[in-house]
Amino acid sequence: MIEKITELIEKLERTHSLSVEEYELLLEHRSDETAAILAEKADAVRREVYGNTVFIRGLIEVSNICRNDCLYCGIRRSNKSCDRYRLTKEQILECAEEGYALGFRTFVLQGGEGIFSAEHTADIVRELKKRYPDCAVTLSLGEYSRDEYAMMREAGADRYLLRHETADKAHYDRLHPAEMSFDNRMRCLRDLHTLGFQVGCGFMVGSPFQTLRNLALDLRFVEEFSPEMCGIGPFIPQKDTPFGNYPAGTADMTIYLLSIIRLIKPNILLPATTALGTITKDGRERGIKAGANVVMPNLSPLSERKKYALYDNKIATGDESAQAVEHLRQSMAKIGYEVVTARGDFVR
Ligand code: SAM
Repeated sequence: MIEKITELIEKLERTHSLSVEEYELLLEHRSDETAAILAEKADAVRREVYGNTVFIRGLIEVSNICRNDCLYCGIRRSNKSCDRYRLTKEQILECAEEGYALGFRTFVLQGGEGIFSAEHTADIVRELKKRYPDCAVTLSLGEYSRDEYAMMREAGADRYLLRHETADKAHYDRLHPAEMSFDNRMRCLRDLHTLGFQVGCGFMVGSPFQTLRNLALDLRFVEEFSPEMCGIGPFIPQKDTPFGNYPAGTADMTIYLLSIIRLIKPNILLPATTALGTITKDGRERGIKAGANVVMPNLSPLSERKKYALYDNKIATGDESAQAVEHLRQSMAKIGYEVVTARGDFVR
């Protein structure tokens, strides 16, 4: 079987494409041996495009108030134990000021859904772009209409992260309440692309009810949608949610998928996520070595950070931003990669 899997990996490296059945087979045969082969190829491909650089993004968690009720998420509206906050425009600008001084040239505004109107978001984006014309602004604020996204884009937003969560509609419906729509999420992703955003889709690894077939469909979706970025991390249970007792996804499978995604799309911007760093101590470093090339340290105010608890035991909730960046620089240097202060745009 190892010959067959090696053949599939070579085919993926050559053509950047496999069928859903082939992806599923590749996932079924994950072993230390196949993971090592994949990681080596993925790292070689990322070095051809991005060298040994690691891009950093300053993550500003603007609010944990959310109108949605995703069954896996700690900031879902039904979670009465969640202590809610919403940063003001001034607080967001202060976070950016601190981040700029630390060398960040991309700011990511992420938060719960429906709390920031498109007008308010556009206003903040305009101010950020005025103060920091050399920086990219990424938004990750959920679903809006096409016109609302257009308003944010016109204000200067460069990128948008909206994980598709799962490419299988039936699986989507088991992770979300009936009022949420798989088709609308997909519509949003298409609109964002046609409006000229650099777009990031993504999914959780090991989410409840997920099968290898589901993950194979996710990979096929990444191939076909061809995003500029892809955010994947293990599902981690949060105790106050309906999925609080479900098992977490694994670092091994997440890292394996990172390598596959790098081979699907050699120039993709691929973060080693906070969730990966949470599930295992050296998760982010292992992700970078296996094909990822982005890390998103937290710039949110320390006073609010613990409240953005999507899942339990999230890392670095108490670290000063400066300290976190320095630590990251050192840990990346130790494994042979260099944290750089570039905007880190997608290379066409
Ligand atoms: N509201 C925006 C949205 O839905 O795109 C952005 C914020 S949302 C909390 C960001 C991402 O967190 C989601 O896309 C989801 O994949 C991830 N997430 C939520 N709960 C999680 C959990 N328990 N474990 C791992 N990731 C989780």
